[in-house]
Amino acid sequence: MGRLRSQPPQIANGTMSLKEYRKKRHFDRTAEPAGKRAKKKPGWVYVIQKHDATRLHYDFRLELDGVLKSWAVPQGPSLDPSQKRLAVHVEDHPLEYGNFEGIIPEGEYGGGTVLLWDRGTWSAIGDAAEGYKEGKLKFVLNGEKLHGAWMLVRMRPREGEKGDNWLLIKERDAEV
Ligand code: MN
Repeated sequence: MGRLRSQPPQIANGTMSLKEYRKKRHFDRTAEPAGKRAKKKPGWVYVIQKHDATRLHYDFRLELDGVLKSWAVPQGPSLDPSQKRLAVHVEDHPLEYGNFEGIIPEGEYGGGTVLLWDRGTWSAIGDAAEGYKEGKLKFVLNGEKLHGAWMLVRMRPREGEKGDNWLLIKERDAEV
C-alpha cells in the first residue's frame, strides 16, 4: 500500500461500481445508458467554489429542487458565529456545476479561476423548501472543511436596494 489515500473512496459516488458495467458495453451500439450522471452518494450536494473573478468571492451552493441554489459570499464563510457574512443570492446552477473547476475565459461571464474549496453534503434542520422560501434556511454541513450547523437568512431590502442579499452565519454548536 504505502500511499495514503488522498481521495475519498470512489465507491461513495458510484463511479467505481459502474466500471465493470461500462467495460462490457459499447454505448455506440447499445441504447443502454452509460450512466454519465452516476448515482451520487446519499445526501444533498453542498459545495463552495472559490472564484477569482473581477472580485474574489466564494460561491456557496446547496442542492435543492434538483438544482444548486447559489450565493456569492465575497468574504467567504466565517467559523465565528458573530461574523455574519454577506451572501448575495444568484441564479440557480445545474447540479453538474458542483464538479466544475477550471478557468472561465476572460471576457466571458464570471471570467477567472474556479477552484473547489469545499465539498460534501448538507441536511436541512426543519423543512428545506419552506425555510428557503421564508428566507431562513437552517442546515448542517458535512464537508471536508466546514461542518456543523449554519444558517442563511434573507435580509430585508433597504429602500432602492437591488439584489437579493442574505447572511451566512455559523450557528453555535460543538463545531465552534
Ligand atoms: Mn461566482
